[in-house]
Amino acid sequence: MDQKRDSDPSAWGEATRLVRGGLDRSRHGETAEALYLNSGFVYPDGETAAARFAGELEGYVYARYGNPTVTMFEERLRLIEGAEACYGTASGMSAVFGALACQLRAGDHVIASRALFGSCYQIITNILPRFGVCYTLVDGADLDQWRGAFKANTRCVFLESPSNPGLEVIDLKAVAEIAHAHGARVVVDNVFATPILQRPLELGADIVVYSATKHIDGQGRCLGGAILSSLKFKEDELKPFLRHTGPSLSPFNAWVLLKGLETLKLRVLAQCAAAEQIARALEATPGVERVLYPSLASHPQHALAMAQMKAGGTLVSFFVEGGRERAFDMLRGLKLIDVSNNLGDAKSLITHPASTTHRNIGEEARADMGITEGMLRLSVGLEEPADLIQDLRAALSD
Ligand SMILES: *Cc1c(COP(=O)(O)O)cnc(C)c1O
Repeated sequence: MDQKRDSDPSAWGEATRLVRGGLDRSRHGETAEALYLNSGFVYPDGETAAARFAGELEGYVYARYGNPTVTMFEERLRLIEGAEACYGTASGMSAVFGALACQLRAGDHVIASRALFGSCYQIITNILPRFGVCYTLVDGADLDQWRGAFKANTRCVFLESPSNPGLEVIDLKAVAEIAHAHGARVVVDNVFATPILQRPLELGADIVVYSATKHIDGQGRCLGGAILSSLKFKEDELKPFLRHTGPSLSPFNAWVLLKGLETLKLRVLAQCAAAEQIARALEATPGVERVLYPSLASHPQHALAMAQMKAGGTLVSFFVEGGRERAFDMLRGLKLIDVSNNLGDAKSLITHPASTTHRNIGEEARADMGITEGMLRLSVGLEEPADLIQDLRAALSD
C-alpha cells in the first residue's frame, strides 16, 4: 500500500511532511511505520538476484545497502530538508566522517571553522591528516579569514552554525559564495539549528549532516545520523563509500527516529521558547558573568542569527564567576537539571565542556574557541521553564 494516492509529498506543509513523509505501508496497512528488523532479503530466483545486483531491477539486497525502515527515515528527512537525497548513518560522527572522507583524497585541503564539536575537530585535525588531507582552521565569523584560507587544492569547507558550545553563528550564504568561487563544496553540521530552524541548502550549502541522536530522537534513546545532498553526490560519491565501509543506520534506530521526527517541530519550538526565557533570566542572575544565546541582543552575531535562523535554538551557554570550582558547585546544586553531555533531549541537560566534550582538544584549542573553565552549556528540555529557572538560580546561590 502506497502513500495516499493523489497527494504530492513535496507540496505538503512542513508539519505534514514530519508526520507522513516517506510512509511506505506494507500490504497489512499498519498505521505506524513498520519496523523491518532484518539484515538479508530473498529473491524468487537467480535471475532476479543477478538483476538486483546489477542495478537493473529495483529492490533491496542487504541491510548494509538499504532497509525499508531506514528508507522511510531517509525519505522523511529528505522531504523536511528539501534535499534531493538523504543517506541515514549509524551516528552523527559517521555522517560527518562519511560526508568528508567520501570526497577527499591525499593531497586535498579542507578549511573548517575553529569552533567545532570535539569529535569533528579530531576528524579535521587528526584523522584526515593521516590520509594526506591537510587543513586550515579559521575564525568562522571572520569572512576575510575564509577568503584568505583557500588554496588551489581546497576541496571543501566544513562548519557548524551555531557551534558547540560557543553558539557562534556563521554567515552560511557568504561562506558558500566564497567557497563556490573557489570550486569548493560546503558541508554544514546543522545539529544545533535542527532542520526546523535553519535550512543550509537554501542558503547555498552543498551537503548537510546531522547527528539524529540529538533533537531528531530528542528523547535520549538511540544513536543515528544523516547526510543530505544532491542526488548526484549521493550516487557518485557517498553511496560507494558508505556501502563498502558500513556505518549503516540500524532499522530499529531508524524506526525510533521516524517517531522522533513526528514531534520534532513541536518539541524544538517549545524548547526554543523556554531557552530564550531561561537565557534572559540567567542574564539577570548574580554570579553569571555572561550568557550566549543567538536571539538575545547581547549575542555577537545576533542580527545574522535572526536572519538565518527561525529562532535562537535549544541551547544556552553561560559563564559563571569563579571558574571550574564554582561551575562544579553549581552542577552539584542542581536538583532537576541533569549533568549530561547529550543535548536536544526532552530532559534539560547541562555540561561543563572544558572537562567533557572538549577535554581532548587541549587547552590551546579550547582558548581559541572561547571555552573557559567557568563555561556551562545548557540543553533546554520540555519541562516547565519556571522550574528550570528556579533550579538554576538556587544552584547558583548555594
Ligand atoms: C553530537 C554531535 C555530533 C556527533 O553525533 P553522534 O550522534 O554523537 O555521533 C556531531 N556534531 C555535533 C554538532 C554534535 O552536537
